[in-house]
Amino acid sequence: MAALPQGIIITEATAKPHSIVYVNPAFTRITGYTAEAAIGRGAGFLVAEDMHQPGLEAIRSALRAGAPAMAVVRSYHQDGHSFWNELHVMPVKVDGGRVTHTLSLLQDVSARVLEEQKLGSLATHDPLTGLANQILLNDRVRQAINHAERDQKLIAVLQIDLDRFKHINEALGHRAGDILLQAVAGRMTECVRDSDTVARVGGDEFVVLLTGIEQEDHLHSIGNKLREALAAPFHCNGQELRITSSIGASLYPRDAQDAETLLRLADLAMYQVKDGGRDDFRCFSRELAQRVTALSALETDLRGALSRQELRLYYQPKADLYSGAMTGVEALIRWQHPTRGLVAPGDFIPLAENSGMIVAIGQWVLHEACRQARAWQQEGFPVMRVAVNLSARQFRQPDLYEQVVHALTVNALDAAWLELELTESMVMSHAESAIALLRRFKQLGVKLSMDDFGTGYSSLGHLRQFPFDTLKIDRSFVQDIVTEPDDALIAQAIIAMAHSLRLNVIAEGVETAGQMQYLRAHLCDEIQGYLFSKPLPAAEATEFMRRAPLLDGAGRHPAVALRTLLLVDDEIEILNALRRQLRRGGYRILTAESGMAALELLALNKVQVILSDQRMPGMTGAELLSRVKLLYPDTVRMVLSGYTELSALTDAINQGAIYKFITKPWDDSDLCALIHEAFVMHDGLAQQGAHSQHGREEISV
Ligand code: C2E
Ligand code: MG
Ligand code: MG
Repeated sequence: MAALPQGIIITEATAKPHSIVYVNPAFTRITGYTAEAAIGRGAGFLVAEDMHQPGLEAIRSALRAGAPAMAVVRSYHQDGHSFWNELHVMPVKVDGGRVTHTLSLLQDVSARVLEEQKLGSLATHDPLTGLANQILLNDRVRQAINHAERDQKLIAVLQIDLDRFKHINEALGHRAGDILLQAVAGRMTECVRDSDTVARVGGDEFVVLLTGIEQEDHLHSIGNKLREALAAPFHCNGQELRITSSIGASLYPRDAQDAETLLRLADLAMYQVKDGGRDDFRCFSRELAQRVTALSALETDLRGALSRQELRLYYQPKADLYSGAMTGVEALIRWQHPTRGLVAPGDFIPLAENSGMIVAIGQWVLHEACRQARAWQQEGFPVMRVAVNLSARQFRQPDLYEQVVHALTVNALDAAWLELELTESMVMSHAESAIALLRRFKQLGVKLSMDDFGTGYSSLGHLRQFPFDTLKIDRSFVQDIVTEPDDALIAQAIIAMAHSLRLNVIAEGVETAGQMQYLRAHLCDEIQGYLFSKPLPAAEATEFMRRAPLLDGAGRHPAVALRTLLLVDDEIEILNALRRQLRRGGYRILTAESGMAALELLALNKVQVILSDQRMPGMTGAELLSRVKLLYPDTVRMVLSGYTELSALTDAINQGAIYKFITKPWDDSDLCALIHEAFVMHDGLAQQGAHSQHGREEISV
């Protein structure tokens, strides 16, 4: 026993105080105490005053039960320093049961314990920042909940995510990223008390545990303090960096009773901040919880929506401000949910984006829109362009181009009648590849428009690089265009600059005549909005196209203020047919069912071109136009007549009352061309200051 490396102590067990009766030389080497100094004393002297160690408790209770025990306890060397003592204690029994002595083996294991502690720290701390890691954090949150229960205090968990950290890391390199993370950790630690815990739980994700909060609103002030601290510029490798952060928080006991839920809810609140555009602080709330549950239920339903054929396309007409006529439609998706009714895209497109379902949905939209556009063409409607919205994820599909070509081919739709609507952020984030893809679409003949313009960060200057045809001014500007001078100025500037880039400009969300007039006055090209029409299901859109309504006040466009055409015929069907045909020319069209009515209108309006039927009861076309010649010599006068009535017109023609005559039935495109020519003729006359006109050309029959 004397040669053993472990120290040995034998103590008396029958009578108190259980004094030491034997120690070996290793004992002296380990503890510094000689045999003389130890023998006769109770073994407890080795731990000095440090008697309430958990290991000692374990040994005592084992001995009371007559069982062996082992524990690592802090012991004290004769010179006063402490060491970790691995102690094995065994009762020594004689005569089959009675404990007479206790045999203890001791060993200095300080080196091993220190090593373990270091490893232990690794298991509980983040090596880069020295902050607590997820394991330690979970532990601390649990502990904090236990304590908080006792002292009726609140606990808060804040989940902090650095916005766009990935970009910084990629742009500046990982070394700089690491330095930034360390600096962030330092700032967070400075913002909170020593008793709080700051943990790093992911690349750029941190959690702060706040204990002993008195009132809920303290949480807000700490949350915002953290945000501000992180918003101040960082200096990293000689560069100044600015970052923003998204912070979500949850509160014990208000939001959750256990650590896992508390952490999860803070995370959820943080994601809400991210979804809402980042750089904010938000507390978890019941409403948020309900929204999240509702969303996940919706997502489950959405998975089957396509196969159950619950998706619909609505079509919103667009109109030309100049002619007042419809120019095309935008396809807008709706979800006919079996119980919720019609769900708007804003409520499920983001879900579809996040889950990847948008790819299949987007393909369906493309096909359905192309199919409908073709169907309208085949029904004989004037060709309308159909616009399809693309989502960001769809735009990143490597085979998007092929998908579009496929949709066009399958539906036999000419590419010129398809328009794709994209947003600024979609093309700006990967500008190079976006430009290449857009150019391919352009070559294909597809029209491209930039949707929601003005809401992003880009400037019109950037736009120059992209081959867009049309720019859509976002609804948010249009809304206050007649009341907010800033919005009005922005809209004006967008229109002017877009025109200088040769882009067509359309304003979305036009709801009032005032908005329309303002846009018209500032030379916007087209509008879309409830004023002209809401988005309509296909059947109603077809009906709308059949009615072919015109925008109010068309032709009052300043650039064309003088382009008024007066149509006169006693047969209303003919008037309607003419109007439909000529509407696309962009004229303001007035109609009269008799010569008298026509003269009335001429008194009220400045009319450049008049087209009158010849055979009308009361006053013939020739009579009317002869009067017009005297009253309004500048007005270009044309007559519409059956071939057989030609002779009745010769006088009028010879007297210069009639510039041209058009035979019934007319050829549509010839008619349009002739009317156009008449306006050109009028402009020429007006410039020459001529007060009369003569049939300078051959009469066309
Ligand atoms: P957006 O492309 O900017 O479409 C215009 C939105 O404004 C439509 O909302 C339309 O109903 C609404 N709107 C039109 N005129 C007015 C008006 O006068 N007043 C007001 N207050 N609103 C008006 P909707 O249909 O709810 O669509 C919202 C967004 O969802 C669209 O914005 C578009 O970004 C997206 N979206 C719609 N359909 C699709 C689709 O098939 N695919 C994808 N990826 N996104 C779609
Ligand atoms: Mg759109
Ligand atoms: Mg839009």
